[in-house]
Amino acid sequence: MEYYSLGKQSANVDFKIAAITGQAPDKGLYFPTTIPQLTTEQIERFKTLDKASLAFEVMRPYVGGTIDDASLKQICKETIDFDFPLVPITSNIKSLELFHGPTLAFKDVGARFMSRCLGYFSKTSSSNNNTVLVATSGDTGGAVANGFLGVEGVQVIILYPKGKVSPIQELQLTTCGQNITALEVDGSFDDCQAIVKEAFMDADLNAAYHLTSANSINVARWLPQQLYYFFAWQQWVAQYGDNTPMHIVVPSGNFGNICAGMMAKASGLPLGHFVAACNDNNVVTRYLSTGNYEVKKSVETISNAMDVGNPSNFVRILEIMQNNFDQLKNALSSYSNDDISTQAAITRVYNDYGYTLDPHGAVAFLAAEEFIHDHEHAITHYNHTVESMPVHAVILETAHPVKFPEVVEEAIGHPLTIPASVKYLLDKPKQSIPLAATYTAFKQWMLEQL
Ligand SMILES: *Cc1c(COP(=O)(O)O)cnc(C)c1O
Repeated sequence: MEYYSLGKQSANVDFKIAAITGQAPDKGLYFPTTIPQLTTEQIERFKTLDKASLAFEVMRPYVGGTIDDASLKQICKETIDFDFPLVPITSNIKSLELFHGPTLAFKDVGARFMSRCLGYFSKTSSSNNNTVLVATSGDTGGAVANGFLGVEGVQVIILYPKGKVSPIQELQLTTCGQNITALEVDGSFDDCQAIVKEAFMDADLNAAYHLTSANSINVARWLPQQLYYFFAWQQWVAQYGDNTPMHIVVPSGNFGNICAGMMAKASGLPLGHFVAACNDNNVVTRYLSTGNYEVKKSVETISNAMDVGNPSNFVRILEIMQNNFDQLKNALSSYSNDDISTQAAITRVYNDYGYTLDPHGAVAFLAAEEFIHDHEHAITHYNHTVESMPVHAVILETAHPVKFPEVVEEAIGHPLTIPASVKYLLDKPKQSIPLAATYTAFKQWMLEQL
């Protein structure tokens, strides 16, 4: 298995080079030359296969021999050693809870898989001394810090906007120590991202460091996210059998998660329709309805992990869909909802169904309701009774509500209990380095570390 650059100007590489470099030299995203196809026999067997073996079988072709089987098995086992339960909210909407990992967000799986791959590559070859640079609006930083903590041969530098991440998120990314450094940037998330982008293009820094990104542009972080869809589908067929389509609603920002799901479907997993749930950052929602891809600057919302103006993984979705707009519209829908509706949805779902959504899950819940409403159709029987054909959907709950306490507590009217798994953070001292929001300040700091 090789990867080509969607920029079409760079040579093909193997999984190892794609993981170590993040992006192709022409700045294009890497994409597999062929999408591995699952056999009917495999799909049948996958229904009851244990999670670690399933993960190994799904990831093996993508890794393409750059990691030996025993090590890959171990990496898969460590990556997914927690639960991904499919929990009913209403009679036809279920929540796939992706927040049972160490940092309570779905990014744990990608970050853990990628960190272990880089650790393996630095142990088994000369590609050590990798420096992972990452800008975060909250969740990525914590998952990357936790995933890479103690991985030998890899240094991690996280840039986060001062005062703009929630208290638990800040603790998750500033209390690790060891090979993890947090830079508290006196600016916005966009400033952090701009600094990281410039760093990847800076000849001086690239001469001094092997820089890579732990963003979902990196195939080692992006591809393992497919596994959620397999785990959801296992639980789905156990309940409904093969004949009820599982439509999937994904709260989307950079579109890495939903794109991974569409890869799983392209490889033969029998999934239903995909729905991208967006907040006011809705370039894709508008594109699907008008055909115009019109990028706007991102706006701040309460579902801030989705505050992305120009989603980096959308080009990969277009590639899966062979750049055919009709094919895309058949596979993907999108709905956009603002903060007021999102907050109201958290309140309503809590009051009516006793389920606590986080703001990202709430955006997905609203999109699921709209999708179901648009696709449920009534059939009239011979005796003139009318029956509506139920449509079922799964929403991906991408973060634990406790990561967004201000919004959620206000919406449900009482405090949230902090799960034991993050309580220990409260006693740990925050370690961060203050930094002005300029590239010059960052570069100077980087060069001083040598
Ligand atoms: C990152 C994130 C998203 C968006 O995922 P993408 O893969 O960037 O589309 C949604 N919800 C939460 C909680 C996240 O952390």
